[in-house]
Amino acid sequence: MSRSVLIGRFLLPSLLGSAIIVSGPPAATAEDCSVRNSYTTGVALGIAVNAGNGISTSDVSTAIGSSYWGGCSGLGTGMPGLCTSCSATVSVSAVFQAGESTNQSGSCGRFTPTFTVQPDGTQRMSGGTIVIYESERGTGVDCEPYADRIAHEIGHVLGLDDASGAGCNGHIMGGRVQGQNRSVGADDCQQARDAWDTPSEVVPDDPNDDGGGPCGV
Ligand SMILES: [Zn+2]
Repeated sequence: MSRSVLIGRFLLPSLLGSAIIVSGPPAATAEDCSVRNSYTTGVALGIAVNAGNGISTSDVSTAIGSSYWGGCSGLGTGMPGLCTSCSATVSVSAVFQAGESTNQSGSCGRFTPTFTVQPDGTQRMSGGTIVIYESERGTGVDCEPYADRIAHEIGHVLGLDDASGAGCNGHIMGGRVQGQNRSVGADDCQQARDAWDTPSEVVPDDPNDDGGGPCGV
């Protein structure tokens, strides 16, 4: 969030003083497989991902473990920590649905977020539901192993969009090559840290701040 503030601050003088309009960060040379989705995220110390009907806790544990999102740095400080069979500020349940995917795309999973409205009128994500289907629609591809599918859906919870390009196959938000698990990369972790704040990030950690108020008196 701090990055957008900085961009806004420096963009204004450049718009006033020059015809060159900087429209965003420089284009990536390689295909960008870690793209922000449109969900409003929020501030949370932790996100609980609890196994519901037909999903095992061990699959969720794998999805939040070191093979996937648990490998990110800054869990609990730069981005929410992840736990299962727990309670946290944000609570997501993962459930299994037998049969073919009912997604328009036919894909194996779906995340539907829920939001709460804050006293200042802004929204924050409060949780939601991950649905994992038994098989893709159209191709009939089996959606197992579910841990990889759950990890992908947790990517949506963490603020990442699908990365549909063939160059993103094998990335957690990209396509899954049958028989091969996808992986969470440093860029995916960074996108999650950018999307979410933790309480320690929201309270300014200014050594000169005596707590006396905005004027510092
Ligand atoms: Zn997806």
